[in-house]
Amino acid sequence: MGIIVQKFGGTSVADPNKIHNVANAVIKEKENGNDVVVVVSAMGHTTDYLIKLAKEVTKNPDSREMDMLLSTGEQVSIALLAMAIQSHGYKAISMNGQQVGIITECIHSKARIVDIKTEKLHKYIKEGNIIVVAGFQGVTPDGEITTLGRGGSDTSAVAIAAALNAERCDIYTDVEGVYATDPRIVPNIQKADVISYEEMLELARVGANVLHPRSVETAKQFNVPLRVRSSFKLDNLGTLIIGVENMEIYKPVAGVASDCSQVRILLSNLPDIPGTAAKVFGALAKNNISVDMIIQSLASNGTNSIAFTVNEEDLESAIDILDEVKQEVKAGEILIDKEIAKVSIVGAGMVDRPGIAADMFRSLAENNINIKMISTSEIKISCLVEKSNAKSAIKALCKEFELEAKEIAVVKGDLPDV
Ligand code: ADP
Ligand code: ASP
Ligand code: MG
Repeated sequence: MGIIVQKFGGTSVADPNKIHNVANAVIKEKENGNDVVVVVSAMGHTTDYLIKLAKEVTKNPDSREMDMLLSTGEQVSIALLAMAIQSHGYKAISMNGQQVGIITECIHSKARIVDIKTEKLHKYIKEGNIIVVAGFQGVTPDGEITTLGRGGSDTSAVAIAAALNAERCDIYTDVEGVYATDPRIVPNIQKADVISYEEMLELARVGANVLHPRSVETAKQFNVPLRVRSSFKLDNLGTLIIGVENMEIYKPVAGVASDCSQVRILLSNLPDIPGTAAKVFGALAKNNISVDMIIQSLASNGTNSIAFTVNEEDLESAIDILDEVKQEVKAGEILIDKEIAKVSIVGAGMVDRPGIAADMFRSLAENNINIKMISTSEIKISCLVEKSNAKSAIKALCKEFELEAKEIAVVKGDLPDV
């Protein structure tokens, strides 16, 4: 028997009863003869609460201090879960990111893991312990505490599974697996038994927040078999995410997702000369601001306008940077649109099927949904629409690509409706 890494999200450890429920799931895996490392998130909505608290103290909290604050959430749940496991008569020990040696780069609030030390993990496993590790956090080589970005506990779990060469990483959550879209938006939706790393990665990147995108990236890179399953129905095997699904793919679209956390920035009246885009996007990149969709268009007066999207969390810093770059590139106005959502369809089966894009655009048009921007990759098509149209767009696309099911998905937990 090998090592199994289990991860439980915030809703699964929201109160003492649920923590005991998790302890039972962990012990069940131990009783199967496996060594178990458990990664947990902060209880319930703790992280949201801590962010709110910081914003009440200051409008612009320092990112180092934010990491200091947010990392406390996971420290509460690891201690409580270790106590719960011990109360059932099993050996358990909790460890935070620093104690394990989850080494990250020094980018506060979105640090990437660069190394995981395994000596202490192996030592405690050998001594018969169930190890409970704080997700979402790490430490820089200089000893600074970092966090991995919202939802990052999934990535902690997969990275630990990869470092320990674990047999599998099980992500337990409040739904029974990966569905073709968020079951809170379309309750009668198909569930996947198996999905490929590629499709899952693309789905996670475009907003299917059931998995942190970097967790799928890491699973793919180190070939870690990943399962998404229910912490409330332990016998249900959920969805397996692995290297290859089928030799031939019959269904063009595997899933639909939306991302309402982006904002669109428009820079108008830019001179049409080489180097302008390089200066604008170079300045944003230097400040670690990722840009998603980009459109450059030439107006009849010979000037360019560039529209692009960034995450809303980066908006204030992006505006500060663009205010500076604006003088240098001689841009006109900077216009912001916050009322947007990106709706995407994903599927390995859409490769070489040009009709899929046209079907997507027609389906949106039939539902009176205007498309503001479009971007495509090999297995994904994204359209930017009004935020108020996001849910109806998802419903329309699930119908269009035959992703609906007869049964209603079970969603446990107390998260607000999206
Ligand atoms: P956890 O606290 O366990 O990390 P999350 O809220 O991060 O849980 O992720 C689980 C949620 O992801 C579900 O409750 C569901 O609303 C949402 N979700 C979004 N897209 C999907 C999808 N395609 N399949 C399953 N769940 C999805
Ligand atoms: N607690 C963190 C968050 O709410 C990390 C996680 O849950 O994965 O984003
Ligand atoms: Mg999550």
